[in-house]
Amino acid sequence: MFEKEKQSVIEAGIKLDRYGLIALSGGNVTLRMPSGEILVTPSGMIYEDMVPEDVLVMDIEGKVLEGERKPSVDSKALLYILKKMPQVNAVIHTHQPYATAVGLITDELPCNLTTLANATRGAVKVCPYSSAASMQMGVETVENIGDKLAVILKHHGVISVGDSLKQALYACVYLEEAAKTYSIAYGMNPNVPLMTPEQIERAVEVFRHYGQGTTDLPEELQYN
Ligand SMILES: [Zn+2]
Repeated sequence: MFEKEKQSVIEAGIKLDRYGLIALSGGNVTLRMPSGEILVTPSGMIYEDMVPEDVLVMDIEGKVLEGERKPSVDSKALLYILKKMPQVNAVIHTHQPYATAVGLITDELPCNLTTLANATRGAVKVCPYSSAASMQMGVETVENIGDKLAVILKHHGVISVGDSLKQALYACVYLEEAAKTYSIAYGMNPNVPLMTPEQIERAVEVFRHYGQGTTDLPEELQYN
């Protein structure tokens, strides 16, 4: 079941590799079906090598409904996030180096780029340390994410969420781009200028409109 959706989960995983957010079989991709089942990538497999049968179908309690592979070791945390955040349908976990590096030296990646405002809706918090494969990873994510679409896991990586795979993917890819830019700027001068709350709000709104496939922006949001 869910052949097409399983394929889109694999394609999202391949994109994580393409954009430098994971190495080999790192990270995972999870997608909730409208009927409530959860698709989870298997543990220890390279995304390019996966076929739809490798992606597991689970219920929200973690019971495997279909699939022979071992589900991602982070499944408990991923299911916890989906349970606590009913508006979220997709969860992506990565080991992206720039965002993770920023998480080693600060408790929040400030919002300094329009792309970050667009993709994560603003500054991204760094969760206190939790070990990989622990339920605590999910607990920290839910506690720290607020109204944003990503968190940085200290000493570990990133979790991004979305109502779709596309939204969760955009969040982690643009987060990495922003973290990379921030790191370069910080290296030149640690006093990195921030965007104002008004600039962030406007950037979020612009993307929300474009994200809905319309270019009919309200006049106040149009760029000259
Ligand atoms: Zn991990």
